[in-house]
Amino acid sequence: MHPYIEKVIKIVDARNHSEPTFLQAYKEVLLSLDSVVYEYPEVVEFNLLERMCEPERQIIFRVVWQDDEGREIVNRGFRTEFNSALGPYKGGLRFHPTVNMGIVKFLGFEQVFKNSLTGLQIGGGKGGADFDPKGKSDAEVMRFCQAFMSELFRYIGAHTDVPAGDIGVGAREIGFLFGQYKRLTNRYELGVLTGKSVGWGGSLVRKEATGYGAVYFAEEMLATKEDGFEGKTCVVSGSGNVALYAIKKIHELGGKVVACSDSGGSIYDKNGLDFETLHQIKEIDRKRISAYLETHPGAEYREGKKVWDVPCDAAFPCATQNELNGEDAATLVKNGCILISEGANMPTTPEGIEVFKEAGLLYGPGKAANAGGVAVSALEMQQNASWETWAYEEVDAKLRKVMKDIHHSCLHYADKYGETGNYVCGANIAGFLRVADAMVAHGLV
Ligand code: NDP
Repeated sequence: MHPYIEKVIKIVDARNHSEPTFLQAYKEVLLSLDSVVYEYPEVVEFNLLERMCEPERQIIFRVVWQDDEGREIVNRGFRTEFNSALGPYKGGLRFHPTVNMGIVKFLGFEQVFKNSLTGLQIGGGKGGADFDPKGKSDAEVMRFCQAFMSELFRYIGAHTDVPAGDIGVGAREIGFLFGQYKRLTNRYELGVLTGKSVGWGGSLVRKEATGYGAVYFAEEMLATKEDGFEGKTCVVSGSGNVALYAIKKIHELGGKVVACSDSGGSIYDKNGLDFETLHQIKEIDRKRISAYLETHPGAEYREGKKVWDVPCDAAFPCATQNELNGEDAATLVKNGCILISEGANMPTTPEGIEVFKEAGLLYGPGKAANAGGVAVSALEMQQNASWETWAYEEVDAKLRKVMKDIHHSCLHYADKYGETGNYVCGANIAGFLRVADAMVAHGLV
């Protein structure tokens, strides 16, 4: 390993020792960059790696809101503005009880490289709160979003920092957040948030973009083996925004998804899951996945079980970080799985990645495979800037092209640096080089 990388790892480890997911994320990137550091002396000269591992700004704030019984509840809000070399900070907000600064920081770090890979003009950031929307009324969610935005509005703006959705934050929450931003600033600034509903400034295909993008990326990976989705059995973890639209697209391309999950368990339907039922249960009724059996009694509910033991040709982790460990990876390989495309951020543990690498699977890391969501968010910003609305087919075609280009970049840079077929290395190197160029151009900032 280049001595500069060793030195930076020591510094960053010491500075962030209480944030294990951030340590996992940053180390994976730095360990991919050995040959790049040897090739470009500027990386050492300008101390680019240490600079990239330190967020430009981190904000933590108190959020006080009232529940339906009139009690005052306290949550904690976060925003990491990680890197603005390529554009305004861009990345989602996550509302989940497990959110803390370490999680937001790892997500913000990943976002910097992912956003760079899209080739679009967006920097990286991420935010959220340790608020659990599950079981809350619409009025409670609205009051929480208003309280959250009452602090966050000072730091964001269409040219500064543009949040979007993530776990627990969909079109409903984005609507409440936008409403409060408008009230506080007296500005109808559409470009301040993405993931808006289509009727008032959102982009067509944004809702579907992350899931569709992960499937388009998988399609590109399969094409390298002159293969496709037709007849493939697939499993998808999660049943939220990303999972649902991955399922829909896999079915459209001729594959069959037989299992998906939520944090309580998984469902298995050997005939293939029905997208319309899942959509009704999760997006409209906001119920648990077990409700699927009410209309599909032939399916099986597996309480507390993940999807990875279900035999499949391709697997799509679309729930959360570190949801697929070394043992799960070994089970997938043993059962004949040939492809992994990550809709979620960092869903596979380092042990799991090692198993996939040794088995020679087609493994598309989240940083590349799930970049479709943020890419269409950037297209939403473009439409907002010109007060235009583009047709569904136009946005979908642009999404498909972005995913194809990212796939090409990953393979190109992996090959150039002696790691042929290694999408992890290729994604990290391609993402890094663009950010590095911009940082050098901007000088010491
Ligand atoms: P949603 O909130 O819509 O859905 C999340 C799904 O994951 C739910 O089924 C949820 O189950 C499950 N889940 C969440 N946390 C856990 C956990 N700790 N253990 C097990 N299951 C869990 O979120 P999204 O679909 O938007 O996001 C999913 C993943 O995709 C995240 O990693 C996110 O960062 C990533 N991503 C999302 C993008 C987007 O555009 N939305 C863009 C790029 C990446 P339950 O309901 O039981 O909690």
